[in-house]
Amino acid sequence: MTDNKILQAVLLVAIMTSATCTGNADDEARYATEHAQLVRVIEARVRDASYFLGKSELDPRVMAAMAQVRRHEFVPEYMRWAAYENRPLPIGEGQTISQPSLVAMMTDLLNLSADCRVLEIGTGSGYQAAILAEICDSVYSIEIVEPLGLRAAALLERLGYDNVEVRIGDGFAGWPEQAPFEAIIVTAAAEEPPPPLVEQLAVGGRMIIPLGPAGRTQDLYVIKKTADGSMIEETIFPVRFVPFTRDEDQAD
Ligand code: SAH
Repeated sequence: MTDNKILQAVLLVAIMTSATCTGNADDEARYATEHAQLVRVIEARVRDASYFLGKSELDPRVMAAMAQVRRHEFVPEYMRWAAYENRPLPIGEGQTISQPSLVAMMTDLLNLSADCRVLEIGTGSGYQAAILAEICDSVYSIEIVEPLGLRAAALLERLGYDNVEVRIGDGFAGWPEQAPFEAIIVTAAAEEPPPPLVEQLAVGGRMIIPLGPAGRTQDLYVIKKTADGSMIEETIFPVRFVPFTRDEDQAD
């Protein structure tokens, strides 16, 4: 090879390497910019929904978690270009990762304390669980679709969330060994609140659950358990979630 050819080869390798590196760095920089924009969009959507929420700003801990958790980690690679758009996205198995502004509002509605223990039904991608794990001491999350649950558990572990436990199974039964929970969040639409979940809610605790017909619009409910054991229900606004399904062998 002539000196000139060697120089050309070296240059070509250098250009290819730097293209690969800047490709990744570019993606990271783009995600960071879009993530910051998404946080502004969530703030705007909260102001739009202030009539329903009774306030125009969410708990700063919720907004800090929204700014911290990188949503592109939780969406399939082919959908990453849209990871920071404020909309639900497919995550496989016919399921979706929820709209970020709704994740933020639902988390806020849980009124989480500093040392909260929370139960989530519908792990899906693991994104909502990560948001909760940023705020709470312990998060217990149940997913009925095994491949999704396994993938979310591995991802949450890789991201260092050692305060989240994921269980594969029908969330209808809740997680009695860890009950009671001060907060329960259901991220799939049910017709009625599952009685075991109501049972596992601590006195003074709150459950956030979309209730209504599958495949149509539901209402987002806040259900509070009072000191005398009675329940107070409040509807917040209409939502649309994937259906709460049941294990055939456990369904009644
Ligand atoms: N919270 C998720 C979004 C969930 S989509 C996220 O942040 O990505 C709703 C999820 O609820 C789906 O993954 C669905 O499989 C799951 N699901 C539906 N019925 C369930 C049940 N009975 N028990 C546990 N998970 C259920």
